[in-house]
Amino acid sequence: MTRAKKKVIKIININADKCNGCRACEIICSSFHATPRYSSTNPARSRIRVIRDPLADIYIPVYAGEYTAAECAGRDKYTIGGKEYDECAFCRASCPSRDVFKEPDSGLPLKCDMCESDPSLDEPMCVQWCLADALTYEEREEEAPEERIVGELDAGLEALANKHGWQQLMDAMSRMSK
Ligand code: SF4
Ligand code: SF4
Repeated sequence: MTRAKKKVIKIININADKCNGCRACEIICSSFHATPRYSSTNPARSRIRVIRDPLADIYIPVYAGEYTAAECAGRDKYTIGGKEYDECAFCRASCPSRDVFKEPDSGLPLKCDMCESDPSLDEPMCVQWCLADALTYEEREEEAPEERIVGELDAGLEALANKHGWQQLMDAMSRMSK
C-alpha cells in the first residue's frame, strides 16, 4: 500500500540588511520561554541572539541550533559587502567555545523550537516582534519520499526483531492482524 506522508517545513527568513539591532527578538523569546511564561525577561536566555557591532554597522540575528559537545577545529572568516565578520558569527551551535545559546544558570544548551505551543502560534514570537521586518515567517509542505518511509519502517522492524527475535515479532504481527 502506498502511504503519502506530508511534513511541514518551518522557515524564518533573515534579512540582515533590515536588522537595526533593537534586540526586541531576544527580549520576547526569553520572555515567551520563561517559566511561568512571560514571568521574566533575560536576553541571555534567548534562542535568538543578535551579533552586534554598531561601529561597523553589523547586526546579524542568529538562531540557536544544535548542541555540540566539542568545539570545532576550524573557523570560517567571512567578508561580505566590505564588512568583516567574527569567525563564529554565523554559527548556530551551542558549543563549549562561547557563552551564547546556553542557560545562564545551568549551562544547559538552548535551541530554537519555533515557539512550539498549544494552541500553536500563527507566527513565532520573534517574527511578530521584529518591526523592521528583518525576520519573516514561511511554511512549506513537503512530501516525504516513500523510500524513506519504507526505510524507516524496515529499520524499526529490524530493531524490534533484534530485541525480541523474528519469530516472536511475526507472531505478534499475526496476532495484531486478526
Ligand atoms: S527584532 Fe528584528 S530588527 Fe530588532 S534585533 Fe531582532 S531581528 Fe534585528
Ligand atoms: S522562533 Fe521562537 S524559540 Fe525560536 S528564536 Fe524565535 S522566539 Fe525564540
